[in-house]
Amino acid sequence: MTAFWTEPDFDAHEQLQFVHDAASGLTAIIAIHSTHLGPAAGGTRFWHYAQPDAAIRDALRLSKGMSYKNAMAGLPAGGGKAVIVANEARSKSPEMLIAFARAVDQLGGRYVTAQDVGMTEADMVALSKVTNHVAGLPDQGGDPGPYTARGIYLGVKAAAKRALGATDMKGVRVAIQGVGSVGGGLARHLAADGAELILADINADHAAAMAEELGGSSVSTDAILSTECDVFSPNALGAILTEQSVAQLNCKAVAGGANNQLATGSEDQLLVNRGILYAPDYVINAGGIITVLRVIDQAGDKEINARIDKIPGRLDEVWDESAKTSTAPGAVADAMARKLIGR
Ligand code: NAD
Repeated sequence: MTAFWTEPDFDAHEQLQFVHDAASGLTAIIAIHSTHLGPAAGGTRFWHYAQPDAAIRDALRLSKGMSYKNAMAGLPAGGGKAVIVANEARSKSPEMLIAFARAVDQLGGRYVTAQDVGMTEADMVALSKVTNHVAGLPDQGGDPGPYTARGIYLGVKAAAKRALGATDMKGVRVAIQGVGSVGGGLARHLAADGAELILADINADHAAAMAEELGGSSVSTDAILSTECDVFSPNALGAILTEQSVAQLNCKAVAGGANNQLATGSEDQLLVNRGILYAPDYVINAGGIITVLRVIDQAGDKEINARIDKIPGRLDEVWDESAKTSTAPGAVADAMARKLIGR
């Protein structure tokens, strides 16, 4: 194994904590990228990695991403991420969660965790029995999905305004890929505003039922990419924007909640080349992480929603700078985030 600081994903991370608990079989990594703006906040992922190095790379890459996201959301929080290395059967035990929570607690609040892929709300409750440094618990508002959806809705409106000059969403055609917690919530907000919805989900029946309920239409998961629309909103998978998919798009703007939409990190330039406005994913989808304010600032819904209301303004800053400097929006957002975290 190579030393982690020679990894391309190493970015002067402040701390990389390896956790091993023989009794429970826990192996975990807690990566703290930056605490420049406050405690490092970011979820815990429970995942099986074929190669152990991949777990370290994920922790390094995702924690840096959280620094950027939290900084651009204006949160008094730095960036961190934890990875619990699952076995092939992905078996998880209460003892394992207790050992992990102890490790989080020993960091004394330098890292605040939340739910991510492979962890359930019940798992987060189990962690909270051992440590206070847990966000997104049921008695703190629970599922961050609706907050994320609201931020994306505001961002889609900002994108429609910038790309089409639309002052409201009436008749604006929005194609939504993935109508789960975030995409489904977005669809409801947009339907209430009179937008024209085109929905797709691998669960085709769900997309069709939602289209019927909200008065839109549904298409196959293959067709959604090239559907003629004003805004394409990816709310399912990461790495959805590739050279091939960007060439297929038939929209004026891409604005959605899926994490890590740019397959190699530079497809935002391809969007610029095609005259398509891009809302950087981690700027528009920060609504969920903003709820961490409940834990780090004892904030209530009013303060949280006020912070989510600022997402369109942040997108406008990115787009203004992008236009001024002829730099793709994703690269502009990264540069702004790095400045905010003192890098
Ligand atoms: P979810 O599991 O509730 O919904 C995802 C939906 O996408 C499901 O309905 C699934 O069937 C569908 N889907 C999967 N593959 C698809 C495909 N190829 N084509 C079309 N649909 C497909 O998840 P979610 O919480 O709504 O999250 C959606 C995205 O937003 C993810 O990328 C997630 O990382 C990101 N995100 C979520 C939050 C949050 O608060 N939930 C916050 C930030 C980012």
